[in-house]
Amino acid sequence: MMSRILNAMTTATYDYLVIGGGSGGLASARRAAEFGVKVAIIEQGAWGGTCVNVGCVPKKVMFNAAAHAEYIRDHKDYGFNVEKKEFNFAKLKKARDDYIKRLNKIYAKNLENSKVDKILGHAKFTEDRCVEVNDKKYFAPHILIATGGHPTVPAIPGAEYGITSDGFFELEQLPKKAVVVGAGYIAIEIAGIFNALGSDTSMLIRHDKVLRSFDDMISTSVTTHAEESGIHIYKQTHAKNIKKQSDGLLTIETNNGEINDVDCLLWAIGRQPNTLSLGLENLTVECDKQGHIIVDEYQNTKNPNIYALGDVCGKFLLTPVAIAAGRLLAHRLFDKGKEHVKMDYSDIPTVIFSHPPVGTIGISQGEAESKYGRENIKIYHSAFTPMYFAITERKEKCHMKLVCLLPEEKVIGLHIVGLASDEMLQGFAVAVKMGATKAQFDQTVAIHPTSAEELVTMR
Ligand code: FAD
Ligand code: NDP
Repeated sequence: MMSRILNAMTTATYDYLVIGGGSGGLASARRAAEFGVKVAIIEQGAWGGTCVNVGCVPKKVMFNAAAHAEYIRDHKDYGFNVEKKEFNFAKLKKARDDYIKRLNKIYAKNLENSKVDKILGHAKFTEDRCVEVNDKKYFAPHILIATGGHPTVPAIPGAEYGITSDGFFELEQLPKKAVVVGAGYIAIEIAGIFNALGSDTSMLIRHDKVLRSFDDMISTSVTTHAEESGIHIYKQTHAKNIKKQSDGLLTIETNNGEINDVDCLLWAIGRQPNTLSLGLENLTVECDKQGHIIVDEYQNTKNPNIYALGDVCGKFLLTPVAIAAGRLLAHRLFDKGKEHVKMDYSDIPTVIFSHPPVGTIGISQGEAESKYGRENIKIYHSAFTPMYFAITERKEKCHMKLVCLLPEEKVIGLHIVGLASDEMLQGFAVAVKMGATKAQFDQTVAIHPTSAEELVTMR
């Protein structure tokens, strides 16, 4: 009798165990519970994962704050006698942190409402179908790894004096002089926020443009916009050594000289998967050289009882992708008749919350030309100043591009950089996903006066 009670305390069995209470894990666990299976989710930090705590959500609050700072500059042109007297960073941070705490509670409550058991602690595989958390063993025939990732810090002397995007959300005050290293999503988004809010902001990039993996129109115009807005971009430059000055500020030694008196150095050079301390060495799960879990199109790992999705797999590191993959996996495993559903990784729309923002779906002009041949591609391009800036001193050009596949001119790439691109993209993404042609875009009556109307009137 005594040993049975002890056993119940030290082990538990579920139908579905999910490791990671972030975007993918939460979505998969809750969806699985809808099918009447016994589900538990394990989280070592705060409910909501990267997106809610140190990603999309607090970032968007900061992006909104930065947008306010930009609009204030335009107020006078619209007749308002308003000037920026003070910016209270601490007040903004508190409001943001309080919002995140509310979200953490909502996520925990949602798990309770869905009847998903919550387990707090670090999960580690000890044997097949078994995960250990705080000395208790949990068994399940189906185990999902949705453990996300963490920011990369370079292996150079003094790198520890810098922060990452995680540290960005801990800042108690706006830096006076910020240097952001990197050229991707996070670097351009955070540099844009620092700059708009008033920090003296620089970026160190290894090449000549930011966002190089996107359509050239995007990388060129975002780089130009960033420079025109006051961000100093050190091109072909990399940090070699970081030193602390006697006054506590930083000196960054680069291949092109020194940058002194820096009070915030931020690394934004990519992310690494959270796979190192999972105990995967005891299993047949395979990882690539960077540690990402290798899965097939159904999110199956090499181990028949273990699945993986989201950032830990290193493909399309976006919240809605992790959520969709998580839900689809739950359907495939537990929903009768849905045994073959899987995530469609094609035509994923994405927005970069730069200043101005970027919206993009499908393939770039360069990719289209190499895939189909230049003669089979027709490009429509438009560059204009949105009407918002017609009467403002501040000008910000909008660029749009449609990449069309001949002969029917199917729209296989749609790229926008400019005010409100972030809110413009979703509807057009539906059209692209449905395989719309340029003619069908043109058959849609324009909405005037908007920037979006340009996408259905390009010649
Ligand atoms: P995560 O959300 O990272 O969740 C993984 C969870 O697993 C974490 O909570 C972690 O604590 C937990 N965990 C890890 N190991 C263990 C373990 N051994 N035991 C228990 N728990 C464990 N995406 C967008 O779509 N739009 C955006 O605007 C956007 N902005 C971003 C801004 C920043 C600064 C960053 C860093 C990311 C942003 N992203 C954005 C990306 C998005 O946050 C991720 O793609 C998404 O959170 C991935 O979800 P996930 O479930 O795979 O992992
Ligand atoms: P990214 O992969 O977007 O960009 C990192 C970039 O940094 C690389 O493309 C590279 O650009 C540069 N880089 C890489 N290594 C080094 C190095 N050693 N020194 C200097 N520069 C280097 O990573 P992020 O960290 O910005 O973001 C991770 C992911 O999170 C994104 O890919 C995205 O999926 C997601 N995310 C999504 C957001 C959104 O949806 N709005 C916002 C933020 C993140 P180059 O080769 O040109 O030097």
